[in-house]
Amino acid sequence: MSYKLFIPGPIAVSEKTLRAMAQPMIGHRSTDFVALYQSIQPQLQELMYTKDPVYLSTSSAWGAMEGTLRNVVQKKVLNCMNGAFSDKWFNVAQRDAKQATALKFEWGQPVDPDAVRRELARGGYDALTLIHNETSCGCMSDLAAIMKVVREFPDVISIVDTVSSFSALPIKKDELGIDVLITGSQKALALPPGLSLLSVSKRALDRAAKTEGRGYYFDFVEFQKNHEAGMTPSTPVIPLIYALKSKLEDIKAEGIENRYARHARLNQTVREHVFAKGFKFFPKEGYGSVTLNCFANTQNIDLPALNKTLKTKHQLVIDGGYGKLKGKTFRISNMGDETDATIAAMLKSFDSALAETPKVAG
Ligand SMILES: *Cc1c(COP(=O)(O)O)cnc(C)c1O
Repeated sequence: MSYKLFIPGPIAVSEKTLRAMAQPMIGHRSTDFVALYQSIQPQLQELMYTKDPVYLSTSSAWGAMEGTLRNVVQKKVLNCMNGAFSDKWFNVAQRDAKQATALKFEWGQPVDPDAVRRELARGGYDALTLIHNETSCGCMSDLAAIMKVVREFPDVISIVDTVSSFSALPIKKDELGIDVLITGSQKALALPPGLSLLSVSKRALDRAAKTEGRGYYFDFVEFQKNHEAGMTPSTPVIPLIYALKSKLEDIKAEGIENRYARHARLNQTVREHVFAKGFKFFPKEGYGSVTLNCFANTQNIDLPALNKTLKTKHQLVIDGGYGKLKGKTFRISNMGDETDATIAAMLKSFDSALAETPKVAG
């Protein structure tokens, strides 16, 4: 059965991208691979607004997220937490036997820059993790304000997850002073899962070179050494790199500003439409994500029933709430290749399915 994903990742992948993956294999130490790798660097750097290299990691984003901790944390990391992914990063730091402090906010509330300053001022930190766009609850924190605070602490290496926001709005890595910027393939880039991208500052690379126990697979020093030769440390997921190249062409053809504007517009369209059905916003007003909307299930709709109707009668699925928000919220993605027409069609299906969905006891 075929249906279209409107969950916030993985998302629908275009025919063009799928076709791009179906190309003959090349050796990962061949001149063809070096040409492929080097051909995409400039545009990746442009999209990340950085002069630093962009490494390609054959892993989902968590590989790069965990690996970064192992590369840069020597003393103690501050984990800013306001949803499922950022909560998990704290847990991952502990599993890596790193000293870590949880800076907790309610799910759906943005990370508060003043709270970050207060905690960093207590001292002892040499790294901080932040999730720009908390996909689990559709909350986007004020990255510029938080980075301004982090830069007051020169020892702190900033590690920013832009997994579900990258390429949907400008994230100016160098200007903001982000040391390690991480993203994944299956969110706004609209590629299949399995590839993550990370751009690492000289400062973070120098830290890594002096950090014990950083392992091999995600070692920044290995990434850098291979990067200089136009390669990756181990055999990469070449089909996804073909897909990435194809996607970069799409982005160039559309124009980056048009891409940003499209995401903002479609996000607003979905939000207004669902508000008109009587649902409320889950994250704090003014901090909604630009790539998805997370709504509180204020109408007590039977969300599994709604999704079943959407899937069987309309061949699409939305998300019925992440983790502890299951049944209490629903999320609709507008990231990737969506257009006014595809969003309008999805909302028409949503209305139709909603009309036949029972309520549950609130
Ligand atoms: C999806 C997502 C992740 C996890 O990515 P994987 O590819 O499953 O490792 C991490 N952070 C955010 C914000 C995400 O949306």
